[in-house]
Amino acid sequence: MTDTLEGREIFKNADHKIVIAIDGPAASGKGTLARNLARRFGFAHLDTGMLYRGLGYHVLKNGFDPENRDDVKQVLTGFLDILDDNYLKTPELRTDETGSAASKVAAIDFVRAALLDYQRNFKNLQDDNTFGVVLDGRDIGTVICPDADLKVFVTASAEVRAKRRYDELVLRGYNTDFDTVLDDIKRRDARDSGRDCAPLIAADDAHILDTSDMDADQAMDHVLLIIKDHLF
Ligand code: C5P
Repeated sequence: MTDTLEGREIFKNADHKIVIAIDGPAASGKGTLARNLARRFGFAHLDTGMLYRGLGYHVLKNGFDPENRDDVKQVLTGFLDILDDNYLKTPELRTDETGSAASKVAAIDFVRAALLDYQRNFKNLQDDNTFGVVLDGRDIGTVICPDADLKVFVTASAEVRAKRRYDELVLRGYNTDFDTVLDDIKRRDARDSGRDCAPLIAADDAHILDTSDMDADQAMDHVLLIIKDHLF
């Protein structure tokens, strides 16, 4: 069974719920990888970027400034009240405007503190037949789940990531151009990496995966090899 690493049963005998932490910059491929791993092993998946996107959108919708701490403080409690699976499926959460607002609210210390328990608790909410969880974000391996069983830091050049994001937006019918998307990615990288609290950085014990020259299947194959070597 472990040869193919297929199905939820392979982690059945683990003495705890397996935690896989996937971190990396925007459009690095970490979301697709996290989803594919979760599907393969029957794990639950939490895209933590959606939490910050959810708050960023909520701030904008209320006519506030995502960079203003007082503005964000005013709507944070209301946001935590409406935060659920359904809200996280709001299509507007996926836009670049929301992504940009997300990276602004994500730089605020009390925002990160307010969302910490939600993320740490995620594995405790799963039933006994779900043998693990995959969380993807920016600080999963460093702050949220420092004891994760496996940490992968997914990266790719800014140009490759911008091309992926551009193709995705065009496919969804958004009218944009490549340079705008590239600028947005670079601005977001700088904000995410340069902030004081929980900056985007690989944990010391993370496996680095550069997907610049890989498609989603190749990235998955690499990680399956890492899992085979390190979890079995
Ligand atoms: O991953 P995604 O692009 O959806 O994340 C949106 C923004 O949320 C990121 O640019 C980042 O600023 C923030 N984020 C974060 N920590 C996480 C996940 C996302 O700061 N764990």
